[in-house]
Amino acid sequence: MTAYDPENIFGKILKGEIPSHKVFEDADTLAFMDAMPQSRGHTLVIPKTGSRNLLDADPQVLATLITRTQHVARAVKAAMQADGIRVVQFNETAAGQTVFHLHFHVIPVYDGVPLKPHSGEMADSAELAGLAEKIRSARKRRA
Ligand code: AMP
Repeated sequence: MTAYDPENIFGKILKGEIPSHKVFEDADTLAFMDAMPQSRGHTLVIPKTGSRNLLDADPQVLATLITRTQHVARAVKAAMQADGIRVVQFNETAAGQTVFHLHFHVIPVYDGVPLKPHSGEMADSAELAGLAEKIRSARKRRA
C-alpha cells in the first residue's frame, strides 16, 4: 500500500495551512464542513494521526474516531433537523476516495431530497460558516 503523505489537503488543514469551517476539535480529532457538500450540513471527521484510510489506520485511532463521529453525527442531525444521517468512508481511488487522509463523511439526509454528487460543486464559504456555527451550537447544547 502507498505510504501516507502528510502533504494531502486534510494534512494541510490540520497544520493550519488551508482554512476550514470547524465544527469540533479535541486532542485526537477534527471535524469541519465538506467544501463540496452532498447535502446541507455535510461534515467530515478526521483523526489528527495520519493514515491514508481505514485500511492502514491504527485500531486505537479508529476506535476513538468512530466515537467522535457519533458525537458529530448527533449534533449535525439536531442542528440540520435532518431526517437521517449517512456515514460514509471510501478506501482508495477505485472505491471513490479522493483525499488520502482517513475521514468519515457525515451526510445529513432529508426526506424527498436527493443527495448531490460526491465531490461536485463548491459551496459558498459564508453559507458553510453559518452551518458550522449552527452545528457547534447544537453540539454545546447536547454536551
Ligand atoms: P473522499 O472522496 O472520500 O476522499 O472525500 C473527500 C471529500 O473532501 C470530498 O467530499 C470533498 O468535497 C472534500 N474536500 C476536498 N477538499 C476540501 C477542502 N479543502 N475542505 C473541505 N472539504 C474538502
